[in-house]
Amino acid sequence: MATFPLPFRPTLSYKTGGRRFGANRDEGNRKHAGCDLIAPRGTEIYAVEGGVVETKPYLFYRGTYAVEFRLDSGKLVRYCEIEKLASGITKGSPVSEGGLIAYVGKMYVSSMLHFELYEGSGSGPLTVRSNPPYQRRSDLIDPADYLDGCKMRTYQQPTGCIRGQIPA
Ligand SMILES: [Zn+2]
Repeated sequence: MATFPLPFRPTLSYKTGGRRFGANRDEGNRKHAGCDLIAPRGTEIYAVEGGVVETKPYLFYRGTYAVEFRLDSGKLVRYCEIEKLASGITKGSPVSEGGLIAYVGKMYVSSMLHFELYEGSGSGPLTVRSNPPYQRRSDLIDPADYLDGCKMRTYQQPTGCIRGQIPA
């Protein structure tokens, strides 16, 4: 079972309104390609499964960034509208499930994690303006069921802390 990408489940559902996958954008000219997980700027974002950071952060939308993360299962997650990667995380970093990977960014007024999921069978850029209605690569999938099936992250030992060691 995968781990939810935030420390809490958002109060506003990512399956309704403009936050859901497939909601209209640009007056119906395109459809929303992910789920919006509303959260304050700076909220921690976790690896949903073990995998490898596949890109550097790149500009995504209104001053926020995106980063692509290849899961060991072969699927690809794009964490979008982030502020920055966590310290020590860079392109090529292996991250285990539940590991801190990035922080939520802020646009003009709103802040959220825009979560995109890909089957992983495609190749090339994820944003494909010429591929309506989502304007994404053809292996894009609705992440709602995946997110519903995630368990909440459990506390993890800080690195360098030896399991079972008794403090002096
Ligand atoms: Zn979105």
